[in-house]
Amino acid sequence: KVKINIVGGGLAGSEAALSLAEKGIEVTLYEMRPKVKTDVHQTGYFAELVCSNSLKSVELTNASGLLKEEARMLGSILLEIAERHRVPAGKAFAVDRKTFSKEVTERIESSPYIHVVREEVKEIDLNDEGTLWIIATGPLSSPAFEKWLSGLFGEDLFFFDALSPIVAADSIDYRRCFVGDRYGKGSGDYLNCPLDKETYERFWNELVNAQVAPIENFSDKLLFDRCQPVEEIARTGIDALRYGPMKPVGLIDPKTGSEPYAVVQLRKENKEGTLYNLVGFQTRLKWGEQKRVFRIIPALEHAEFVRYGVMHRNTYLNSPKILNRDLRSKGYPNLFFCGQITGLEGYVEAITSGRFVALNVMELVKTGSTFYLPEKTMLGALINHITVSGRVPLSPVYANYGLLPPVKAKGKRERNLKKAERAIEELKKFLKERGF
Ligand code: FAD
Repeated sequence: KVKINIVGGGLAGSEAALSLAEKGIEVTLYEMRPKVKTDVHQTGYFAELVCSNSLKSVELTNASGLLKEEARMLGSILLEIAERHRVPAGKAFAVDRKTFSKEVTERIESSPYIHVVREEVKEIDLNDEGTLWIIATGPLSSPAFEKWLSGLFGEDLFFFDALSPIVAADSIDYRRCFVGDRYGKGSGDYLNCPLDKETYERFWNELVNAQVAPIENFSDKLLFDRCQPVEEIARTGIDALRYGPMKPVGLIDPKTGSEPYAVVQLRKENKEGTLYNLVGFQTRLKWGEQKRVFRIIPALEHAEFVRYGVMHRNTYLNSPKILNRDLRSKGYPNLFFCGQITGLEGYVEAITSGRFVALNVMELVKTGSTFYLPEKTMLGALINHITVSGRVPLSPVYANYGLLPPVKAKGKRERNLKKAERAIEELKKFLKERGF
C-alpha cells in the first residue's frame, strides 16, 4: 500500500488533502504553523489567504474567471467551500477570509482520512519508495526545508522574484518597433522599441516620480540592494537608463538607419512567442503605475500587461528543468509539487494545481500512470508554460490569456471569450474521455 504525505497546509496542500480524503485515500498532512511561523501568515488555520481576500474576477473575459471555472469542473473542494463564504465585491470573487479558512480547517481536522501533524518537515527520506510526497510549502517554505530542497536541486531552486513585466505579443504595436539583436548577432529573438529624446525624457520623469510598493521585510531589502529595480537605476541620473537597460548601442532602426536615442528590448517569454518581457525592467512600481508609465513607450501604447513586475521573497523551482507536465519531479518520481513553489502564482492557481496533483496521485495509485491536461485549457497552458514552453530560468506566472493559442476575433473581449469557450469544451471532452 502506498503512503501519501503532504507537506504544507496552505491553499494547494489543503486542496490536495481534502481531494484525496474525499475518495477515501488516507494522507498525512504536515503543517508547521502555528508552532513555526512565516513572515506573512497570521493564524494557525489551513488555507489562510495571506493578503487580499479576493479570488479575482468571476467573468470569463478574465483569465482568472476561466481558471476558476476549470477548477470547478475539476471538482475543487476549496472553491466549493469559498462559495459559501463569499462576500459582495462586484465582479470579484471575494471571501470572508476567517470563516473560509476556519471551515477548511474543520473539514481537514474532522476527516477520518487526514492525519494532521503540526510539525515542520526539515527533510524527506527519498529512499522510502513506498511513500509519495506532495510538496506544497509555498513561496515562504521554511528555511530548513529550503536548505534540503537546495541540496536536491542546487541552482534550480530560487529564493527571490525580480521580475520584469510581461506583455501579450498581440498587443504590441509592431509598426513602432523592430526585430534585431545587438550588432546584428543572434537569431532575432528581440523586439526593440525605440524612444526619441523627448519621449525618453518624459518617460524618465514619470518613472522616477511614480509610486512604488513598500519594502516588506528584510529579505526584500537584501534583494533590492543586490538587484536594482529599473526606477532606482533611473533615479541615479537622467541618462542612467541609456547606459543601462535602455542602451541603444548596436541596434540600428531600419526606419532611420541609425541607433535610436534609447531602446526598450522585449524578449520572448515562451517558445510560442505569444508573450514578451521587458528586458532589465524588474520593478517595484505599483501595478497601475507600471501600466501608466510603461505605456509611454510608443510600441507599448496599447500593451496588455499579462503579468506585472515584482520583487519579493519567493521560493520556487526552475520547473522546466525539474518537473514533468503532471507536476511530478523528473529525477525523483515519488515527489509531486503543487502551489506557488512550482512557479504558479496566485490563490486560484495554487488551489487548482493542488486539485490537479491530487487527481494525478489518485490515478497513479489506481492505474500506475498519470495524465497531462490539454494545452488549450488555462490550467493545462499554465502547467505547460512552467514545465515545457516557458523561458529558462523560469519567471513565475499567473493565469493570463496570452498563454493560450490564438483565435480569430475582433477585439480583446471577443478573443478572450472565444479562448474561454474553447478551453471549457476541451476540458469537458477530456474529463468525459477519462471518465472523471
Ligand atoms: P501557502 O498558502 O503559503 O501554503 C504553504 C504552507 O506550507 C504554509 O501553511 C506554511 O506554513 C507551510 N510550510 C512551509 N514550509 C513548511 C515545512 N517545512 N513544513 C511544514 N509546513 C510548511 N496571490 C493572490 O492571488 N492574491 C494575493 O493577494 C496574494 N498576495 C500574496 C502576498 C504575499 C506576501 C505572498 C508571499 C504571496 C501572495 N500571493 C497572492 C501569492 C500566492 O497565491 C499565495 O502565496 C498562496 O498562498 C500560495 O499558495 P500555496 O499553497 O502554494 O502556499
